[in-house]
Amino acid sequence: MIYFDNAASTKVHPQVLALYSQLLNEYYANQGSSHRLGFKINELAEKSKKSILEQLKLDHQYQVIFTSGATEANNLFLKGAALQYQKRGKKIITSSGEHPSVLKPLMRLRDEYGFTLVILPLTVEGVIDYDELEKEIDDQTIIVSLMSVNNETGAILDVKRIRKMLDQYPKCLFYSDATQSVAKVDVDYTIFDAFCFSAHKINGLKGSGALIIKNNIELIPLIEGGVYEYGFRDGTPDSPKNIVLAKTLKLAFKNHQDKIAQIRHMSTLLKQSLSLTEGVIINTPSHAIPHIINFSLEHHRASVIVSGLSQLDIFVGTTSACSSKSHHASIPVLSMYHDEVRANNVIRVSLGYFNKEEEVKKLMSTIDNLLKETKYDKRNHD
Ligand code: PMP
Repeated sequence: MIYFDNAASTKVHPQVLALYSQLLNEYYANQGSSHRLGFKINELAEKSKKSILEQLKLDHQYQVIFTSGATEANNLFLKGAALQYQKRGKKIITSSGEHPSVLKPLMRLRDEYGFTLVILPLTVEGVIDYDELEKEIDDQTIIVSLMSVNNETGAILDVKRIRKMLDQYPKCLFYSDATQSVAKVDVDYTIFDAFCFSAHKINGLKGSGALIIKNNIELIPLIEGGVYEYGFRDGTPDSPKNIVLAKTLKLAFKNHQDKIAQIRHMSTLLKQSLSLTEGVIINTPSHAIPHIINFSLEHHRASVIVSGLSQLDIFVGTTSACSSKSHHASIPVLSMYHDEVRANNVIRVSLGYFNKEEEVKKLMSTIDNLLKETKYDKRNHD
């Protein structure tokens, strides 16, 4: 099997699995219990938070709230902060390229709670137009929510530039869905008031992630009950998963420069080959993480090629896994190029730290063969 769908999810690192299994066996008590085992687990969970902050180069001004992943973290922050701070203003700015776990809660806030939502389109660079953003930010704006790296195209946002704009608006929180940037590209996370990431994108466990927020931010919680996670996320925490998250990050950052160099090398090979292939147009912009290569087919149905690869045990993505089941066009690609055929015919190859150069070569030759063997699709030109 050859796996190139790492932006959707990744293989669990064997050391993550080993530690998780040990923790499940030994530390099954409730971390809120008033006995030695409970105290020990609580201490390990706190240590994990401290380590996560250190690894992301954040100080005591930030705190970690463990969640079941980025979807929950996005919902918790966006609904929680919007409802908490609505007296300050009711305007929120985001982009059309955001993940559904950002766009859906924001649309609900607009439709059911009377917030004004500005959804900025993407430029051909795969990010918002910074001047347009600057024009939109005003005294009523309480949240700017923009992903640091796009999950479909890999486009990298200039977050420093946005921080500078927002410095004149202290009431406005800068939030980022950093699911595709953590441990992939260097980002100064002190730029954000809050951000989140997900373990299963970086060889960790599914159902695990974190929302990281500045200490002075209050949130209306989504889940209320027995108090845990500072009252922002009640209910007995999945302590083994939370403890293992620090280890997941540590392993992702281990030999980071070498791993990125290897991904960059494979990415360059693939892009070179694709750019020489008739009928292939690359959607990933130039300023992007090397992990994601998004392209469209001009003369073939992407779904036919993806399924042909799948039959040969080579797994690539189409749009993001969260929207591909509903067979939507790629929203970021549509927003960037305003071309329905192009946006409907997308293939996303996403490289991970377990991929090898031979696998990339195999992918390239197989795509070439499939394009030659598969019928030209006239519908693309209707
Ligand atoms: N945001 C982005 C940018 C993502 O790529 C994903 C995963 N598809 C999510 C949020 C949702 O993450 P999770 O699966 O941890 O809920």
